[in-house]
Amino acid sequence: MTTTPPPTPARAGVTAPPAAPAVQPGDLVPLPVDWERALAIVAHPDDLEYGAAGAVAAWSVAGKQVAYLLATRGEAGIDGMDPEQCAKVREAEQRDSAAIVGVTSVEFLDHPDGLIEYGPRLRRDLAAAIRRHRPHLVLTFNHHDTWPGPRWNTPDHRATGRAALDAIGDAGNRHLFADLGLPPWNGVRYAAVAGSPHATHAVDITATLEVAIASLEAHRAYLDGLGPGNWMADARGLLTTMAEQAGQRFGGRPAVAFELLLT
Ligand SMILES: [Zn+2]
Repeated sequence: MTTTPPPTPARAGVTAPPAAPAVQPGDLVPLPVDWERALAIVAHPDDLEYGAAGAVAAWSVAGKQVAYLLATRGEAGIDGMDPEQCAKVREAEQRDSAAIVGVTSVEFLDHPDGLIEYGPRLRRDLAAAIRRHRPHLVLTFNHHDTWPGPRWNTPDHRATGRAALDAIGDAGNRHLFADLGLPPWNGVRYAAVAGSPHATHAVDITATLEVAIASLEAHRAYLDGLGPGNWMADARGLLTTMAEQAGQRFGGRPAVAFELLLT
């Protein structure tokens, strides 16, 4: 809650300053909740667990349906593991981590990890999924060149995020990918981008931070593969810090920040 400071007593001839607005410039505002189904589209196992899963858990608790769609199985993500074996391990870890936040629909498209190409094939696959799932909200991962910070983003995230945003329009155009045999879907109202350097909205995860941590910790082989001392392997520390940082712009409540785009 924002506390409004007491007004400064007016001196003779001086007008008292207006009361502080409830929302300050740069504050995050609550993500809309007037939707029922979401489809989360990301490149890799673990992308959703590095932040967004806390919001997914909150949505599950609220009775919303969320499905996961991953462009790859993350087979190139563990340095010391053969890609074929890695794909199996990471698929299993992703299904476990999804179940922890109430998600049972998890699909993989088998685009090549590390070499996802933006283009018609990816847009087609994502548009097909949108037509099948008929979501009102599409959740995706940072499609910008950089992370907040800034640090350089990876090509898979850029390609998948941009294709996901583009596929929302593709899914609604009956003349695109008509051979899929799926009716167009124009029901997506919102696109929420996690990990964006241009966050505008947030979801309160006070009640779901612990399950979000458990959801990331379910990626055990991946986290172990990062090696000792890697800050990305500290699920509790990382997610708690992220929630606190978003919370500094959200009335002090632990939160997941999103860039919200209207579609
Ligand atoms: Zn990733």
